[in-house]
Amino acid sequence: MKEKVVIGLEIHIQLMTKSKMFCHCSTDYIGKEPNINTCPVCLGLPGSLPVLNKKALEFAIRTAVALNCGINQVSRFHRKNYFYPDLPKAYQISQYDSPLGVSGYMEISLPESKVKRKIRITRVHIEEDAGKLVHEGDITSSPYSLADYNRCGVPLAEIVTEPDFCSPEEAQIFLVKLRSIVQHLGVCDGNMEEGSMRCDANISLRDAKTGAMGTKVEIKNMNSFKAVKKALQFEVNRQKKLLDEGEKIVQETRHWDESKNITISMRNKEEAHDYRYFPEPDLPPLRVDLKITDEIRRNLPELPEARRERFIKNYQIPEYDAEILTSSKALGDYYEKAVSLYSNSKVLSNWIMGDLIRYLNEGKVEIENSPISPEKLVGMLKFIDEGIISGKMAKDVFEKMFKTGKNASQIVNENGITQITDENKLMEIVDRVIRENSKSIKDFNQGKEKALNYLVGQVMRCTKGRAKPDFVFKAIKQRVKKE
Ligand SMILES: [Zn+2]
Repeated sequence: MKEKVVIGLEIHIQLMTKSKMFCHCSTDYIGKEPNINTCPVCLGLPGSLPVLNKKALEFAIRTAVALNCGINQVSRFHRKNYFYPDLPKAYQISQYDSPLGVSGYMEISLPESKVKRKIRITRVHIEEDAGKLVHEGDITSSPYSLADYNRCGVPLAEIVTEPDFCSPEEAQIFLVKLRSIVQHLGVCDGNMEEGSMRCDANISLRDAKTGAMGTKVEIKNMNSFKAVKKALQFEVNRQKKLLDEGEKIVQETRHWDESKNITISMRNKEEAHDYRYFPEPDLPPLRVDLKITDEIRRNLPELPEARRERFIKNYQIPEYDAEILTSSKALGDYYEKAVSLYSNSKVLSNWIMGDLIRYLNEGKVEIENSPISPEKLVGMLKFIDEGIISGKMAKDVFEKMFKTGKNASQIVNENGITQITDENKLMEIVDRVIRENSKSIKDFNQGKEKALNYLVGQVMRCTKGRAKPDFVFKAIKQRVKKE
């Protein structure tokens, strides 16, 4: 049987407001003492009443508009009921049958085929986050669980796509672009590792011949782009194998286990009716004036796609470079800062896409915390241009700069890494090499041009690579001709 992969995504983004969705508690909980950012509202104490955070609403509208959604002029809050210790109210305030944003789309471009695909966005709605349970070690073996409600009530926007992805790669490309969009919008930092952007996926295999839909499996707990791709790929293979063996796919929720690289069954999937959704009686219907939506749409900041086009046009760099440099807000900002200080825009993008990104990835450092600032990178490139160091030496200088955070001139001075610019000194070495390699001179005189390259190599070795190769070549040629 031939199957087609069908994937849909649900992404939660944490909106970067100062206070929570329905109360005044701070949203700044990372590294904070447990349960200090709490109040009767977010703890769900009897008699407390929620009040909607205006900024959270604005951020959610901004997100929905950027994803080409229509904004419902009247939307509603619902209670999604479930019992779990991280949710003191035993329900989450969310949106159900009339969400804030509907029927949007986002275009993704697939690198190999250059084909653009439109991914439909079903809805964008707002809801509150749950708290966090802290276990001793692994959840399955921990003797107890502690509840921390600092995150409880933090505002989220949930973005739901139609099942429009045909491969795990497409899902990953979408997520990278979505992250860049929400970063450019200034509504979410997009940090998947820290959970401020979370992705669940549902995946099924459709019979390619009959078009019959397969059973959907939901996958949770993928906290990096790589994990999303790996988990979905694993699930495609698992489902294919089951179908090939004549087995049935069970509708369930599976958990991605990063350490084992497998998905594990967590529970049978809940149906919407399991949540007993009902309208939230403490909040009136949410009315969003057309004027507000229009104003937000007019004032949208530059989005990654427009920025990419601008990079291609203004800095004359290839589309490929521009795509990578706008794949995150901070990377684009880094490049723009550097390019304002240095005119060779392509040399800059080469260093950023090559050495810088490699060292950042290896060291698991975010670009915002790069030990090499745009100013320091440009400082090093100017050293190359001035002939103080060679391009080859720069690789070494760059590594030392990354490891120590020092600037190029410090590294060069401390390590004596400079090109020899004193021509008299260089000529002394050239002459010595010529004296010591009479055979090569003979070879050259007999017509072997390559013998000169050997001599240049010898000079480079004697100077530990600190000579300028083109100067050395000219000097040797001059000397040899005289003899
Ligand atoms: Zn509170």
